[in-house]
Parts: sequence; C-alpha cells; structure tokens
Amino acid sequence: MDLLKVLVQKGKLTQKQVKEINEKVIETGQQAEELIIADKLIPESDLFQIKSEVLDLPLIAEVPKSISSEILSLIPRDSAEHYNLIPIGRKDDLVEIGMVYPHDIQAREALKFLSRRSGFEYSLFLISPSVFRGILDKYQTAEREVKEALESLEGELERERGELSLKGDVSEAERTMEQAPVIKMVAVILREAVEGKASDVHIEPMQDRLRVRFRLDGMLHSSLFLPLKVHAAVISRLKILSHLKIDETRVPQDGRFSTRFQNRRIDFRISTLPTTQGEKAAIRVLDPEQGFAEIGKLGALPEQEAILKEAIKMPFGMILATGPTGSGKTTTLYSLLRLLNREEANVVTLEDPVEYFIEGVNQSQIRPEINYSFIRGLRQLVRQDPDVIMVGEIRDDETASLAIHAALTGHIILSTLHTNNAVGVIPRLIDMGVDPFLVGPTLRLAIAQRLVRRLCPHCKKKVVATDSQRELIQKNYQSLPAHLQKKYTLPDPLYIYQPVGCESCNFSGYKGRLGVFEVLKMTERLADVLLKSASEEKVSEEAKQQQMITMRQSGLIRVVEGITSIEEVIRTTTES
Ligand SMILES: [Zn+2]
Repeated sequence: MDLLKVLVQKGKLTQKQVKEINEKVIETGQQAEELIIADKLIPESDLFQIKSEVLDLPLIAEVPKSISSEILSLIPRDSAEHYNLIPIGRKDDLVEIGMVYPHDIQAREALKFLSRRSGFEYSLFLISPSVFRGILDKYQTAEREVKEALESLEGELERERGELSLKGDVSEAERTMEQAPVIKMVAVILREAVEGKASDVHIEPMQDRLRVRFRLDGMLHSSLFLPLKVHAAVISRLKILSHLKIDETRVPQDGRFSTRFQNRRIDFRISTLPTTQGEKAAIRVLDPEQGFAEIGKLGALPEQEAILKEAIKMPFGMILATGPTGSGKTTTLYSLLRLLNREEANVVTLEDPVEYFIEGVNQSQIRPEINYSFIRGLRQLVRQDPDVIMVGEIRDDETASLAIHAALTGHIILSTLHTNNAVGVIPRLIDMGVDPFLVGPTLRLAIAQRLVRRLCPHCKKKVVATDSQRELIQKNYQSLPAHLQKKYTLPDPLYIYQPVGCESCNFSGYKGRLGVFEVLKMTERLADVLLKSASEEKVSEEAKQQQMITMRQSGLIRVVEGITSIEEVIRTTTES
C-alpha cells in the first residue's frame, strides 16, 4: 500500500517494520493503521495527516461540536460501526462523510448503497479512528432518550405498584405518574420527525413490539421499536394532543395539533386506524419551512419574477397557475400568497386540504361530505369582506363563474387550473362558461410551469452543441422578445452541458429541480383580441406580440446557462 511506502520514505517506519505490519495484516485481518497506532509506531494524528496527503483527501482532525440527528440518521449506527464511515455534516447539497479507510472497497460500496437508498449525495473526508469513535458517541441520542423515558416509566410504575398495595386507590396517581415519560417519548418522536425532515410518522403495533417509522424523501424507514406495553399510552397521548376521543378505538379518527419548534409553528395531522393488532396512528408533518419557497427561489427568470411581483400590487383580478400535478404550481401560489399577506389585507383561502398554515391568513378546508364545497365556500367567503382569496382549484363552471365575479367586485383571486400552457388558460375559462368579455377585465396573469432537473454540478460535462441542438436553441433565442435578445446572447461555439453521473448524484447526473415558467400578462391589446376571438391560436399570436417568454425558451436559457440539460427541457416542454 502506498501509505506504508510513503511512511518509509519519510523515515517514519523502517522496511522491517513494514514487513512485520504486512504479515500481521494478513494474519489478523486488521488494518495497517490500526496496528501502527496500537504499537505506538507513529502518533495517530501524524499518521492520518500523512494519509490525508497520500490519498489527497481532506482530513477532519477533530470531533465536530454538534451533529444533528437528521444527519446521523442517514447512516444507521450498525453500518457506521461496521464500515468505519460516518456522516459529519452537510454543506450545500452534500452530506459530508468521514471515512477511516476510504480505500476499503466494501465500505465504499456500502456507502454508495446507503446514499442511493436514502437519496443523498456526499463528499468524502478522512477521519482518524479516535475522531470516528467520538462521532459514534453522538449517535442515537433519540434512541437513548426514548430508552431513558421508558426506564423511568417502568421505574415509576414499579414504585406505584408498591404504594398501591398500601393505598388501594389506583386511578389519579397512577395516571399522572405514568404521563411524564410518555409525554417525553411522544415529544422525542415528533422532534425526530421534524429534525429529520420526515413527511410522515407511522406508529404501528406489531405482534411483539410497537414500530415507529419515518417517511423520508418518499421512503419509509424503521427508526424505533418500543415495547408493546406503551402502545395504548402513546396513542392516547396523540389523541389528547389532537382532541380525539381517547376511548374510541374501533373507528378511524382524524385530527390535528400544532407545536412550536425552533421558533416556527409546525402542524401535525393525525389519523388513527383500527387494525387487527390494535390502533395504528399516522402523522403527517407539515413544516412550513419545507412547504414554502421564497419567490426568488422558484426558478423564474428575473423578467418573469418582476411580472409576478408587479401583478400582486394590483387591487383586484385573478392570478391563475397551471400545470400538471407535481409541477410546483401550488408552491408558486403559496409564495405569492405570502407576499399578499399584509397587515391591512384580509386574506382567506379555500383549500382541499389545508396543507400549510400561514400566520394571519384565514384558511378554510372544504368538506364535500357535508356539502361544504368550493362553490359553497366561495359564496360564503365573499361575505367575509376579503381582499385576497385563494381557491385550491377551479374545476367546474360554477366555481369559475364565482371566481370571476369575485375578481370583478374588487378581490384578488389566486387559483389553479388544468391546461397545457399559459395561453390555454383563456380558452379553458371560456369553455367553463366565462364570457370572453369578462376575461379581459378580470384575468391578470396566467402562469404555467414545469419542473426540470438540475444537472449535478460535480460531474456535468461541457460539450459543443450538435447542429440540431444549436438550431433548436437558436430558433428559440431568435424568437425571444427584442429587449431580451441583447441580454440572452448565444456564444460561438455554443457549449452546453450533459449529465454524466458520479457518486455525488447517485450516478443519475442530476441533483435537485427548478421551475421553468411562462407568464402571460393581460394587456389592453390582449383584452381587445379576446373581444373578437378567444381561440388559442389568436391568444398565442398576441402572447408573442406582448413578448412572453415561453416555458421552452425559459428552459433553453437555463440550458445555455449550464443549469439543466437540453433533454430535460425537451422532455418537459413543447414548442409553441
Ligand atoms: Zn454527479
């Protein structure tokens, strides 16, 4: 191994010592470094400093002060111990992983597997065995806390039993004694969920134990097992928090509660379900930090962002976002709503369901089962003297007509629609029975969007665009609004980037996503056009006149900027 050679060169070891070390490695299966440290041939810190130079891998020489349990949870303790690799922190999008033996192929494979399974990308650092052990000590404080809570619960029950035989009276005393540890246990579970950015927590009774699972990035992970005897107490605690009936265990119940966590309000939506093993609870974690994006971070071009910000200054009118499910349109509306949520404005919403609570906004959830629909809700809402109304979705004629009416009578309306592009919003409204001559005065903006994947910055490859790629980009750049053609110019030769794949992006070549937008503004001219013909073709022509940047153009600008690949843009957008 190179390290031993270098150590000889540096006069740290003799050839004879190296020979002995190599023999012992074969004999014992231990690592050469372990043997060197155990025999005190070289101080650990010196050894790993040299190793860091040999491997050209940065060394982390001290145990970090704190490591969040979210980071630690990315690699199970057992795997960490077995492979001598451990998460240290997070920088940008990368999880920093410390390895004692980075040349260990099995360890590298294990790391690749773990990163794929949990969906994280990483950067590697070298750490010494003592730093490794120091970090290992930080592991699973949650597990420890729950265990401590359990022990104290058992201890108190034990004491209770002793006293009971003297007093004979069970209820009150026992109940309060029991509560504190259970409250603590539930609090720890919820805190773990929030810190670990879990979207859901499942608490499930099994044959012999209670399983607690967390959903992270769409995947369920078992995180904790508790003795079955705490099952009833844990479920009761959750029911108390969310004002559900404690003694009702045979029918499903729904509720919610909120708590403050690191200075923000986090909501938990809980639903219970009777199963053959007993009652199971599922908890949806609604963390506003996860659900909201700043308007500047959505991915809109600066020109588009300016139009969005301008539109919400208007005193009334409709802003409609459109796109397929999962295109990020609700996130866009939420970020607009946040800007509209001012002290002097009465902001109300009708949602299905209410996902995120916004301080100061009156949010209402529709309940079709009791005939509280979008239609009925909207009729009710306009009597609440609102300034801004967000309606989850306009999906039928009557909602459309109510929304138009509300916009005409001086309200700002935010909603979503299903159409392929921004231009399609107008014919869609007319299909739903809206008079074409009312669209001009009410519609302010139609926003269409798609999500494209961002190229992994670590492995993306610069290439000269092929002739056909160049042609496609050129064609779209040439049809950009005149005032933007100066800003968005094409270099010659034209370079674009391709996905490659590396450890950091799980060999997908991509990391994260961003929105590509098109924002159609209602103008006097467009309103005039609508009075004559509201066909998609005519609207499209006028959109070009008003210099709208299309989703495809927006995407290709991101291609030339090297942020995404041309394949992503072709896959998600169409030529218009
Ligand atoms: Zn990569």
